[in-house]
Amino acid sequence: MIVLKTGKEIALMREAGRIAAQALMAGVQAVAPGKTTQEINRVIHDYITSHGAVPSFLGYGGFPAAACISINQEVIHGIPSKTRRIEEGDIVSIDVGAIYKGYHGDNAYTVGAGQISPEKQQLLDVTKKCLELGIEAAVPGNRLGDIGAAVQGYAESFGYGVVREYVGHGIGSEMHQEPEVPNYGRAGHGLRLAAGMTIAIEPMINLRGAGVRQLSDGWTVVTASGLPSAHFEHTVAITDNGPVILTRP
Ligand code: MG
Repeated sequence: MIVLKTGKEIALMREAGRIAAQALMAGVQAVAPGKTTQEINRVIHDYITSHGAVPSFLGYGGFPAAACISINQEVIHGIPSKTRRIEEGDIVSIDVGAIYKGYHGDNAYTVGAGQISPEKQQLLDVTKKCLELGIEAAVPGNRLGDIGAAVQGYAESFGYGVVREYVGHGIGSEMHQEPEVPNYGRAGHGLRLAAGMTIAIEPMINLRGAGVRQLSDGWTVVTASGLPSAHFEHTVAITDNGPVILTRP
């Protein structure tokens, strides 16, 4: 069932989204060569808990941290570690959710550590643009396929691979609600979008090939190619005045 949110609920989600966004930016700013992923997670965890919110991911399905931190060929769901050090030239994807007054905000960003290659920089730029294009398509009367087609069309025009196994999602009083929001699809097809829907749009784009696999830790998803992947996400409300990004710092 798709839950349409009232204006009051969306206002609460904006609060949750702001905390999630500021926590994410604190984590992004902490990324530097030599830091461990656990140090980045600590910054994020402390930001969320010191602002009256609860990390959405901590304990979710047994996940042990406030943030997923995924480096280079890791696509999503990387587990922060005291021994994993970020290196010069890495790209670091950080995914953060916060619960505030019963509502969730969920967002992700990929940042380079130090100087990164032009190839990686373009992957980041294109994936960020994919998110923007997906958000622009999130208007009443459009269909879910319009979001997916916008993301897929742009990513594939650069020869990149769009991850199929993991998708965006409805969000609200739970982190994952219906509908699923794929990053691929056909324009004009799928569920019709309506004002009051709140969704997390989150393109996961691989440098080459769409394939992914999960590591034996039960969480970390990596590219089948071993090549880098990027991930950007916002929580968005579909309104009669257009899409509203709820995860704004
Ligand atoms: Mg999400």
